[in-house]
Amino acid sequence: MNKKIALIPGDGVGPEIVKQGIKVLDAVSAKYNCTFEYKELVMGGIAIDKTGHPLPEKTIKACKESDAVLLGAVGGWKWDNLPGHLRPEAGLLGIRKALGVYANLRPAILFPQLKSASFLREDVLEGGIDVMIIRELIGGIYFGEKKRVDIEGGEKAWDVMAYSTHEIERITRRAYEIARKRSKKLTMVDKANVLESSRLWREVVMGISGEYPDVETNCMYVDNAAMQLIRNPKQFDVIVTENMFGDILSDEASMLTGSLGMLPSASMGEGQIGLYEPIHGSAPDIAGQDKANPIAAIMSIAMMLRYSLDMEAAASDIERAVSKVLDKGYRTADIMQEGMDLVGTERMGDSIAENIC
Ligand code: NAD
Repeated sequence: MNKKIALIPGDGVGPEIVKQGIKVLDAVSAKYNCTFEYKELVMGGIAIDKTGHPLPEKTIKACKESDAVLLGAVGGWKWDNLPGHLRPEAGLLGIRKALGVYANLRPAILFPQLKSASFLREDVLEGGIDVMIIRELIGGIYFGEKKRVDIEGGEKAWDVMAYSTHEIERITRRAYEIARKRSKKLTMVDKANVLESSRLWREVVMGISGEYPDVETNCMYVDNAAMQLIRNPKQFDVIVTENMFGDILSDEASMLTGSLGMLPSASMGEGQIGLYEPIHGSAPDIAGQDKANPIAAIMSIAMMLRYSLDMEAAASDIERAVSKVLDKGYRTADIMQEGMDLVGTERMGDSIAENIC
């Protein structure tokens, strides 16, 4: 079996964590007697430096020809003052749109070994945390009209949050299918008391809920959801929400699990091809220092094997290997606890790869 994987290391800690991911994929390849054909591509800041554009056509084409795409992270201070459409993040939004990956799955799972690295009290964490946030990825305010005009005394700027019935329907159905395979509980998060787009979300989700009578559905305003995630995270199983709310809530959920460096993600559309990336950014403050936690990237590869490459056993191997390494007491700085063994990015990657067996 030969699978084509597009690699987009990106900027900051991106190349460091993707390198660890490749070590793990190589270990999987040796165990399962399959080959992964890697194609390294540029996107984000590095692409701006090399080609003048954050998302070269060549990158889009090569991604579309792959079985899956593994992305590190993009962005950095160097490119912060460029106009919006030329910033590294425009590459990120562009590749998601080009691949049509509208469903972003962000599981927030607390490894029992990291209980004390979580920012919540032990009693709140009792019984573990396992929340799946499903974020709409290629619509809403991040993709709506953006404009800035001069007005008397200054400027005025706006970003439009727009959703169509179709966009809400497809992600809602995806969320219900996932909820069915979990604890059969779906929470739709919106701001329907204020936003018209949220009122449409609520109508569409409640309309579809009748097709899934086995799944308990409830709706929650986003401000309440932000609070409830901290107060009682165990009440959630699957959360489905629009692009910006999902972006913010999933970063918040990462703190339940200890660190942004622990949260993977998978983005999928209608086909088999998916885009896999940690939820964190390029972490320029620790780039190049062997400090980044590669677990989010490595767990994203487990999701890639599961959802795009049909290699469930290998996905479970990776999850077990991460757990074993945490059992051994290895910790990167972001999840360091007293009495544990502080390791860098490289050593964490090596240890996880060695434990694929
Ligand atoms: P960030 O996620 O890069 O970093 C936030 C904090 O978390 C920093 O203190 C960082 O050191 C820490 N952190 C992040 N990943 C870590 C890891 N793997 N291990 C240990 N610590 C980690 O967010 P930011 O600082 O707001 O953004 C930095 C740049 O990344 C910006 O240019 C932003 O636009 C970009 N960004 C990119 C993506 C992406 O590529 N998907 C996502 C978010 C932000």
